[in-house]
Amino acid sequence: MRQNIVAGNWKMNNNLSETKKLIKEIKKNLKSVNLKNTRVFISPTFVNLRTAVKKTKKCEIEVVAQNMHYEEKGAFTGEISADMLLNLGVNTVILGHSERREYFGETDEILTKKVNTALKNNLEIVFCFGEKLEDRENKNHFKVVESQLKNVLFHLSKKEIKNIILAYEPVWAIGTGKTATANEAQEIHAFVRKLLAEQYDKETANSISILYGGSVKPNNAQEIFSKEDVDGGLIGGASLKADDFTAIIKSI
Ligand code: PEP
Repeated sequence: MRQNIVAGNWKMNNNLSETKKLIKEIKKNLKSVNLKNTRVFISPTFVNLRTAVKKTKKCEIEVVAQNMHYEEKGAFTGEISADMLLNLGVNTVILGHSERREYFGETDEILTKKVNTALKNNLEIVFCFGEKLEDRENKNHFKVVESQLKNVLFHLSKKEIKNIILAYEPVWAIGTGKTATANEAQEIHAFVRKLLAEQYDKETANSISILYGGSVKPNNAQEIFSKEDVDGGLIGGASLKADDFTAIIKSI
């Protein structure tokens, strides 16, 4: 059975005290929630990962990183390695977020190296992909999504791909308040699952969680999560408010 996952992408938000406060609030809220088959991720910025790991030791919340470098170590000023994350107790990393692609020039080639390094180090990956507005307007969204997945992931073995959580994030829906409709999300998720089945097999395709991300809020989460191939969400803005994040987790 594939897992449901609600992942908070905190981006460059929350200093140390804000991080502690938000974790405390989420923990308190989750005490009354039966998480069953649902994993909950939060992703504080690098400098607060250590504190976040400590503060979540005795609860189900998992701390994930927002990025990492593809080299193992060396002269890469300002970068963070897979080993540094693992050593802190972080076992999952988000790769390929559209903000990394757009503002930091992360290409499919760079992301392939990152994916390979993460897997070599036994890190689980939340891999983000999704089309831009012009792709959707030109009806190229299926092609774009297919090439992002093929270029970066489809060289992986069946065993390796099972360490990847996919996150479909149409760029036009991120931080804009515009959400894909539940049907639009389902359409792409089903398409991705079909690609996985073709490349690997049905069992593999059915074991991989596919999250939707893009302006998920308490008022639309339930409808989106109700779709057959939507296994949860990657949540930006709404993950910064404990009550909204909890409401979204409860919607699954
Ligand atoms: C994101 O950044 O991954 C995201 C989905 O952001 P938001 O929920 O704010 O659109």
